[in-house]
Amino acid sequence: PAPTTKESPVTKAVPGAPAERRTPRQPLPAPWRRRVDSVLSLPAEQQPEWPDPARAEEVGRELGTLPPLTLPAEVDLLRGRLAQVAAGDAFLVQGGDCAETFADTTEPGVRAGIETLERMADALARRGGLPVLTVARLAGQYAKPRSSPTDALGLPAYRGDIVNSARPAPRARRPDPRRMLRAYAYAAGTLNVVRALRAGASGRHGGNWGPFVSHEALLLPYERGLARLDESSGTPKLYGLSGHFLWIGERTRRLDGAHVAFAELLANPIGIKIGPGAAPGQVVEYAERLNPGNEPGRVTLISRMGDEKVRDVLPAMVEAVRKSGQRVVWQCDPMHGNTYESAAGYKTRHFDRIVNEMQGFFEVHHALGSHPGGLHIEFSGSDVTECVGGARGISDAEIGGRYETACDPRLNSRQAVELAALAGRALAA
Ligand code: PEP
Ligand code: MN
Repeated sequence: PAPTTKESPVTKAVPGAPAERRTPRQPLPAPWRRRVDSVLSLPAEQQPEWPDPARAEEVGRELGTLPPLTLPAEVDLLRGRLAQVAAGDAFLVQGGDCAETFADTTEPGVRAGIETLERMADALARRGGLPVLTVARLAGQYAKPRSSPTDALGLPAYRGDIVNSARPAPRARRPDPRRMLRAYAYAAGTLNVVRALRAGASGRHGGNWGPFVSHEALLLPYERGLARLDESSGTPKLYGLSGHFLWIGERTRRLDGAHVAFAELLANPIGIKIGPGAAPGQVVEYAERLNPGNEPGRVTLISRMGDEKVRDVLPAMVEAVRKSGQRVVWQCDPMHGNTYESAAGYKTRHFDRIVNEMQGFFEVHHALGSHPGGLHIEFSGSDVTECVGGARGISDAEIGGRYETACDPRLNSRQAVELAALAGRALAA
């Protein structure tokens, strides 16, 4: 019998249909495909071991036939806004879940997250005296790097809903490439709500300042599947159209690796997380590699040092970048260097330490005459109890009450706005 092949509606031969409907779409011309293949053959950290790699490739090809989630013109618009941040004329507020989940993707949830981001922007703009650009960690933040390939039960680690299920069972933890298509669908649904909210908004929120969406560009087959070539400007440019702003995490930023090399090919604004172990020369190398044309708005350096180290290690990095002449956005992630385990065993963060790292970031930049360009945080739009402290004083004992995160502990909506108000004050200082 003839082998049966699964055909997507796009490639199915329909009698009498126009020729292009019978030809699989080739989103990338051969030279670009080769270039992408070549960078993706470099060492890539934190990728799942697919039980059936051929199936994962098939899903990647299917992603390549779908409409992109964002458009090049939007990405360019954001890049222009970020250039204003790099120039010191605006401030960037970015945030959302550590890990979005399919189950928690709801209209009220998306709305609450966007509203919190807007309230943060208001609090910051009012005190900080600069226009605020908002970028949501949303519509694609489904893949997580893990510190260990197995969890406390000895099961394969949960790597985010785009890879496997958080349910603690061996079957649920098997990486399933079809989840990339579900992630695409959830991201599309999320963006649909975001765009509807924007269309219905008035005043500043309906203006040009956001919200754009962003996520960590971790899962390479997904990112590759949603990369598209744009030739409208005359110069062909590759865009990562899974979002607007993409970043590379602390765990996948090796200079000889696939993530940095792939980001080099993209025209998007790119963020890179910088921990305390990075050498100042290395930080400059990221900026130069990702941005050989030194275009402001292209590179955002996301400092996540921990409150005890930021004042010691950040100055040399800021100085080195300044000496190199690279025009970057410096952004503070005061969350990821300040995680600890509570007495009851919850992964948590203390509001005071988050504030302390943020204050340290502002102090360093003010002392060096450099622009403290932005804040990057993990928050929930609802009243969760995952981080300790804040004006309403969530206590250590209260953490278990509403601990709902799929990964790292998030500030709740109140704590997030409180932090933004403090950032505004520090910006104006
Ligand atoms: C994150 O932003 O959720 C994250 C994993 O951060 P980092 O790469 O800085 O550890
Ligand atoms: Mn996180």
